[in-house]
Amino acid sequence: MILFRSLVSTFRQLEVPTGKPVLVHSSLSAFGEVQGGANTVLGALLACYPTVLMPAFTFKTMLIPEIGPDKNGLVYGSGKDSNRMAEFFRPDMPVDKLIGVIPEALRENPKAHRSNHPILSFVGINTEAALQAQTIENPLAPIGTLADQDGWVILLGVDHTVNTTIHYAERLAGRRQFVRWALTPEGVVECPGFPGCSNGFSVLEQPLQKVTRQVKAGNAVIKAMPIRAILDAVKTILAKDPLALLCTQTDCERCQDFRKK
Ligand SMILES: [Zn+2]
Repeated sequence: MILFRSLVSTFRQLEVPTGKPVLVHSSLSAFGEVQGGANTVLGALLACYPTVLMPAFTFKTMLIPEIGPDKNGLVYGSGKDSNRMAEFFRPDMPVDKLIGVIPEALRENPKAHRSNHPILSFVGINTEAALQAQTIENPLAPIGTLADQDGWVILLGVDHTVNTTIHYAERLAGRRQFVRWALTPEGVVECPGFPGCSNGFSVLEQPLQKVTRQVKAGNAVIKAMPIRAILDAVKTILAKDPLALLCTQTDCERCQDFRKK
């Protein structure tokens, strides 16, 4: 059983410079049993870091249209069943289960604020500038704000395949982005600037090793690294090979569409 005070001392061992904002990706189940669950992990994070940002994505709002732009990493017309299940975006919509229960605990915290992107919202405490930087065209802009503030990424029991900063770096490197569509009370909203597939991101493990601080809490491996170091590593790897970071699954529409000229 993992207790609050042991989480606090573990997070402190990462030695993230005092006061720097952190972008946290997490899996509660990776820890094993935590006394008090998601709220305990969140409380320990907030005890160590004054400025915490997390993804609060809501994939249930997404619609797949019958037609759309070419090479968009999507099979048009394939969403007949999922479209019927789609939900209108609302600011108090729970964070998608795929993103995890710790961001949902943050969303429920009375001090937290959330941005209003209908698919890729972020939630945070003391992160107003980052949240306000987000636009429908530049959904990952909050990460840019954190980079400017010398922010860090913390991975709690998850790997680089959920490290959204890598997607932001791909965009900075000029990689083409996709278009997706979301259901909102104002109608269907076109969402450009949508990132690609992340299944190939583990290749960054090795180049990022020298800037990564690593500790363990229960069964979970916890890693921290500066956002700017991630941006630099992605820039370097994509300059050498523009197809780096794509996955090798032959049925991955997004990665296959990048390989098309
Ligand atoms: Zn892929």
